[in-house]
Amino acid sequence: MKILVTGGAGYIGSHTCLELLKENYDVVVLDNFSNSCKESLNRVQNITGKTLSFYEADLLERPSIHQVFKDHTIDAVIHFAGLKAVGESVTIPLKYYHNNLTGTFNLLSVMDEFNVKNIVFSSSATVYGNPATLPITEDFPLSATNPYGRSKLVIEEILQDLYKSDKDWSIALLRYFNPVGAHESGEIGEDPQGMPNNLMPYISQVATGRLPRLSIFGGDYDTPDGTGVRDYIHVTDLALGHIHTLPKLISKTGVVIYNLGTGNGFSVLEMVKSFERASDRQIAYKITERRPGDIAACFADPSKAKKELGWEATKSLENMCQDTWNWQAKNPMGYRTHSKKE
Ligand code: NAD
Ligand code: UDP
Repeated sequence: MKILVTGGAGYIGSHTCLELLKENYDVVVLDNFSNSCKESLNRVQNITGKTLSFYEADLLERPSIHQVFKDHTIDAVIHFAGLKAVGESVTIPLKYYHNNLTGTFNLLSVMDEFNVKNIVFSSSATVYGNPATLPITEDFPLSATNPYGRSKLVIEEILQDLYKSDKDWSIALLRYFNPVGAHESGEIGEDPQGMPNNLMPYISQVATGRLPRLSIFGGDYDTPDGTGVRDYIHVTDLALGHIHTLPKLISKTGVVIYNLGTGNGFSVLEMVKSFERASDRQIAYKITERRPGDIAACFADPSKAKKELGWEATKSLENMCQDTWNWQAKNPMGYRTHSKKE
């Protein structure tokens, strides 16, 4: 079975390609490297001892997508490609809407043309906005507080409309909570360009000395220690969530929605302490103002995915911190550490 992975060179995409190859899927990657580099794919191939097909192409250029579908008989698409920085989406919304929405339109229209109607879409817990209660189930009300989140919400709605119009489509909307960690080999991991926006890469760059100190955004939330609580999930568990989704996607048409989280919430301070234990280094931090748009706490009820997909996250917070540290210590400058930037 042949899977097209858009954004396959990125953080979650590379880990998913690795698990797909391990499960003997044929993998075709389309990525424009706007937030990644080819080295991640070289390493995925080295780790698995298998090869994948690769296209340096932009979803904004429809003919490039067309070429991929002409060259390969694709069974299903896992659609990771998109811009994902919440803060940046507020300052340059048009770029976010253009990339995420137009890119998805182009992809869906080429899929339709080639009669490939199976798609897994990377959605996010951000579509739940500020939930009234916790844990979050898939039927909670949806809202968006920034252009990034709105692009996810709109794409979810477009995919629902598509199924209403044509019952041959099979669509999985996977709502990720907070992916962290790296493959246990330490060969692939998260490699943010410039200053990290997310907590875990920021902490790990403080641990290596690349950044001087973590700012903890808010110490006065209504949470046990006053800092924000999130559902951190190991990226390999997340990747495996996609592997468990594929058989259901292929076997039955419709729209399915799953939370991919662990169901556990950890505070920023708990993350710092756990990372200190894993790295045996102290993380300098300072509690600062809340970050605009942040919510106090967010964690999933992942029981639907367990019941219907037979998937659940198995890796502990300790695993997440150890694997992040292993990747970061081996690759202090990310993929540029050992190789020329592609
Ligand atoms: P990432 O930036 O590492 O990967 C995205 C990949 O898509 C990159 O390799 C980038 O080069 C590529 N890309 C972007 N625009 C493209 C285009 N127009 N054409 C071709 N390639 C393009 O991000 P990630 O963390 O791996 O996230 C993957 C998906 O999961 C994204 O859609 C993101 O919004 C979603 N998601 C991520 C998180 C998270 O915290 N990492 C949480 C929830 C949802
Ligand atoms: N956070 C922080 N300092 C940082 C980055 C994040 O205190 O430099 C906090 C943030 O306020 C939130 C949690 O860490 O409570 C997770 O933030 P992240 O940006 O990683 O993910 P989000 O849940 O916002 O998508």
